[in-house]
Amino acid sequence: MKTAMERAINFNAGPAVLPVSVLERAREEMLNFENTGMSVMEMSHRSKAFEGILTKAIAGFRRVLGIPENYDVLFLQGGATLQFSMVPMNLCLSNQPMDYIHTGYWSKKAIDEAEKVGTCRLAATSEPQKFMRLPRLEEIKLDEKASYAYLCSNNTIEGTQWREFPDTGEIPLVGDMSSDILSHRFDVRKFGLIFAGAQKNIGPSGVTVVIIRKDLAERGSAKLPVMLQYRTHTKNNSLYNTPPTFGIYIAWLVMEWVESLGGLAAMERLNEEKAGILYRAIDESGFYRCPVEKQDRSWMNVVYRIKDGDEALEKKFVEEAKAQGMVGLQGHRAVGGLRASIYNAHPIEGVKTLVDFMKEFRKKNG
Ligand SMILES: *Cc1c(COP(=O)(O)O)cnc(C)c1O
Repeated sequence: MKTAMERAINFNAGPAVLPVSVLERAREEMLNFENTGMSVMEMSHRSKAFEGILTKAIAGFRRVLGIPENYDVLFLQGGATLQFSMVPMNLCLSNQPMDYIHTGYWSKKAIDEAEKVGTCRLAATSEPQKFMRLPRLEEIKLDEKASYAYLCSNNTIEGTQWREFPDTGEIPLVGDMSSDILSHRFDVRKFGLIFAGAQKNIGPSGVTVVIIRKDLAERGSAKLPVMLQYRTHTKNNSLYNTPPTFGIYIAWLVMEWVESLGGLAAMERLNEEKAGILYRAIDESGFYRCPVEKQDRSWMNVVYRIKDGDEALEKKFVEEAKAQGMVGLQGHRAVGGLRASIYNAHPIEGVKTLVDFMKEFRKKNG
């Protein structure tokens, strides 16, 4: 068994690596949280102790992301995937299309669900470029009557990331930020609704963070199933039913960890540095190749191939890396190749170790 100091060098895409200090604190508080005589998992979601955790988790998100007063922060279940359905169910207006920006696997899933609710338009797509770049801001063509516009801020599988968001004016912008929330600064006010499954940059799976402008929480029909209406959760402060209590607790600790490092500005610097080290090693190698256009490359999920897709060599790479403690380097089953997910909590030393390994591997197999 590995001890705490011999943790895997974890490149998993999600669920993914968490900060060691957060795990240690959770361990310390596991049997007795703040003199309650019980773990967070064992306490009532209506207790004073849990109320404190929920309040601090929400306040943490508000501070770290600079969320204005006219937005609510919700902790829901069903993953980011349920938001693919809840967003159109609540935000689609009759006879007003929903405008999607299609940038890959996850936006496709969202479009498929929206089409069950109403008329979808493609405001932009990078499918002709096989999603290896993002649409330029000026290529986005919105219907002025659109119910809302939709984008995925970081394409976890294709390895692209928006760092500047379109200005959609009166049309509410919805963002799936599952794989890059908390990784860089941005203006929440550009969005009407943001959602993120927790298991990449926030905490454990089982909790989904939704940041919603208060007026939009009132838009959906009151005839929708009660759990699928945003207003149910805004009115009850995420306590309509039992929320994912332990996940919310870890999310709070992660917020404190982000703040202890210097907040989003510090995360942004660190992520740019980490990704830069890895992309440079790929570009300079003449052996590895990143298919994504430079300006759209993700700082979270670095996607690359060996010799334009030598699958046997890629398999060998993944196996040998694993033998050296580096796990999760195979690309998503939908696209193949290699992928290093280097979320906020992935230490820079892990990236340097990977780069050293890549150099050795190239020498032996180049
Ligand atoms: C992982 C991921 C999802 C799916 O999340 P679930 O919580 O498993 O439903 C959706 N969108 C993006 C961008 C993701 O990275």
